[in-house]
Amino acid sequence: MLDLKEVIDRRSFMIIDGKLVSKEIRNEITLEVQDLQSQNIVPGLAVIIVGENPASQSYVRNKQRTCEKLGMYSEKHELDIDVTEKELLTLIETLNNTDKIHGILVQLPLPKHFDEARIIEAIDPSKDVDCFHPINVGKLATGVESFKPCTPAGIIELLEHYEVQLEGKDAVVIGRSNIVGKPIALMLLEKNATVTICHSRTKNLETKLKRADIIVAAIGKPYFLKADMVKEGAVIIDVGINRIETGLVGDVAFDSVQEKASLITPVPGGVGPMTITMLMKNTLEACKKITFDAK
Ligand code: NAD
Repeated sequence: MLDLKEVIDRRSFMIIDGKLVSKEIRNEITLEVQDLQSQNIVPGLAVIIVGENPASQSYVRNKQRTCEKLGMYSEKHELDIDVTEKELLTLIETLNNTDKIHGILVQLPLPKHFDEARIIEAIDPSKDVDCFHPINVGKLATGVESFKPCTPAGIIELLEHYEVQLEGKDAVVIGRSNIVGKPIALMLLEKNATVTICHSRTKNLETKLKRADIIVAAIGKPYFLKADMVKEGAVIIDVGINRIETGLVGDVAFDSVQEKASLITPVPGGVGPMTITMLMKNTLEACKKITFDAK
């Protein structure tokens, strides 16, 4: 493992290439899928989408396309915006009991009339490849082996791939969402980092950021993290995906922050490609567990 100082000395490593790391992991997944196929086993993912949110439609298309590329089975269930909660729960129950489906994903956010927590709890935890079910969240919090939520798992893969030493390091996570902020904080803690979670009510954010060896920005505000908030040599992970007039940008003012960072993820091409890859990895793991543990 490289220490931060060594990482700084190896400036050629500066940009964390999420596309490349993602490609390597996808190649490994493809080989495992081929091996399973030779035993007549095909990992299967079911994606449920309610309504016509264009961003959600595009995420779902991407997930299906990736399944196909990696040799996995996928099915999409598109439901009308006025579908009832009972109908959605019935579909989830059917998929829970469908042998060729090993992963079930309900694309969030759901329209307002749904109780999201109730829907997520209906998914069989062994098929909860997003790791949103309270049982899997509980396992994550207590360090029990289980699914890891996709975006945070992708971040940890990137940090490990670039040999960033986490033990004893000061990590600051900006954002406390259930999807990114809280789980990545838990996962960094599991790796023995000293973790501070900051959010919209945090006082003296800049003081905390300036002490950080590692910053994970998951805020949803374009260019929020500026160079003067960052200490020299910090590792910067930009989770943000913000659509502005000129295109897609992160939560980090990349051009100026990269001058100070030892390692930094770009947007696009950093954390983004890892999220779907980790979903595929979770689906593969679910398939293996369901198939072989049952024997
Ligand atoms: P969210 O809106 O649920 O949470 C944002 C967090 O930022 C909140 O906890 C809030 O307290 C904090 N925050 C807001 N303003 C702040 C401020 N001024 N100072 C400090 N903290 C502040 O968002 P989310 O779902 O966690 O997503 C965050 C970003 O990451 C979004 O841009 C989203 O699109 C992106 N995202 C990317 C991926 C990916 O695959 N790359 C996956 C999920 C989310």
